[in-house]
Amino acid sequence: MSKEFKHVSESEVVISELMLPSHSNFNGKIHGGYILSLLDQIAFACASKHSGQYCVTASVDTVDFLRPIEIGELVTMKASVNYVGTSSMVIGIRVEAENIQTGESKHCNSSYITMVAKDKNGNSMKVPGLILSRRKSVLRFLKSMKRTQLKRKRDEEFHHIDFSSAEFQNDLQQYRVQVELND
Ligand code: GDP
Repeated sequence: MSKEFKHVSESEVVISELMLPSHSNFNGKIHGGYILSLLDQIAFACASKHSGQYCVTASVDTVDFLRPIEIGELVTMKASVNYVGTSSMVIGIRVEAENIQTGESKHCNSSYITMVAKDKNGNSMKVPGLILSRRKSVLRFLKSMKRTQLKRKRDEEFHHIDFSSAEFQNDLQQYRVQVELND
């Protein structure tokens, strides 16, 4: 029987991978797309552990590339569940890259990905609640909750936009854009 609540620690996932020349772009840095693919994999593993179900990626909420990753560095990704809704989970991932010769480590990326648990027929499944036993986890839950609320509010705000309103035109005036509507 699946548990009604689970500790954050029960689904934490950590992976390390050496960055090979085949993962680099034309600049000799590691390709952002490759990092995104690893982020998606670790988010899948973490969400599947928490829910005990097959999971799909619903949205990539934030991916901040802070520093480039070099060929030969050892990348470590640490993932944990920050927030749960009914069938959704927000997975936070911290990415660090280590120069294995010097042992120096740098924070390269922090990402937040929403995953949804699914049954065999593709129906969304209820996931266990979260037991928050560290202040950090409470903070992460609250931050994620706030982000989700803001996203909903923003979607609602733009649902019925009035294209003839002065407010919208004034807002755009400060930006390097020209509106030439033809529809
Ligand atoms: P934070 O979200 O403000 O704490 O920013 P960080 O960049 O420190 O971490 C990003 C996310 O990575 C966090 O929200 C966590 O979900 C996850 N994370 C950070 N540190 C760890 C860790 O030590 N272990 C695991 N499993 N996940 C971590």
